[in-house]
Amino acid sequence: MVLIDTGMHEAGSLQQLDRALDQVNLRLEQVRLVACTHAHSDHWGQAAPICDRAGCELWMHPNHRHAISDPEKALERRLEVARQSGVPEEALRSYAERARGLPSGIAGVMEPDRDLVPGVEIETDLGTWTVHETPGHAPSHVCLFQPERRLLISGDHLLGRVSLYYDYGWTPDPVGEFLRSLDAVERLDARLCLAGHGRPFTDVGGHIVANRKLVGERLAGVMAALDGGPRTAVELVPDVYGEPLTQTNAGWLLSQTLCYLRHLELGGGVARAPDGEVERWARA
Ligand SMILES: [Zn+2]
Ligand SMILES: [Zn+2]
Repeated sequence: MVLIDTGMHEAGSLQQLDRALDQVNLRLEQVRLVACTHAHSDHWGQAAPICDRAGCELWMHPNHRHAISDPEKALERRLEVARQSGVPEEALRSYAERARGLPSGIAGVMEPDRDLVPGVEIETDLGTWTVHETPGHAPSHVCLFQPERRLLISGDHLLGRVSLYYDYGWTPDPVGEFLRSLDAVERLDARLCLAGHGRPFTDVGGHIVANRKLVGERLAGVMAALDGGPRTAVELVPDVYGEPLTQTNAGWLLSQTLCYLRHLELGGGVARAPDGEVERWARA
């Protein structure tokens, strides 16, 4: 048995996996390979104990530095970006406090035994799966494709419900990478998509179009929000997303807005306008 993605690590999570496998008459010890679509904790977090118990290898894309960086350093980096984006000190302090108390979802850091890159094939009872790099959501993201059955294992690259997320700060242009990854997956012409969250779906092409459309809307939203002159990323968020910035959505919406700004900057549409410690953005 090949296990694609592991779920997040938390108290009792491995027992949950045992129970789920038991329902289909399988056991964790029968896993002969763990392959992860990307190194987010909900897809990779239990790799270490599973590979340990099953005595098997882990295969994952080599660009997984975003997952194994020192959590304290990563937090400091996020706080610096947030400060530069216009988040007030008070909010930064309470964010840092909460973030330090949150569990990582990772049972233990495990380096892959083999790089999951194009050219590598995964043999299964359903046939051979090919590997397709799909960075954007995460630098380490890959999709797996079974050509005879036209099955796509999409991880978080394509979900049943259009939901955009990019890792900020690890690659030059996560939004551009995501758009190119949509093109790459479109060329596969999959008939059924098995996503990392939610139910499988058949209209893969329709989902790709819907993702592209929403990216276009967000980019247009950022441009429109800059109509009145230079603004910080924090000031842009409510206009782009139609909701106020809160403690719970700030980390997510701010990093996404920065990814759009970066993409527009590379395209020449916007430029940074440094203003002391804080960075403002303006139409170029
Ligand atoms: Zn993810
Ligand atoms: Zn996920």
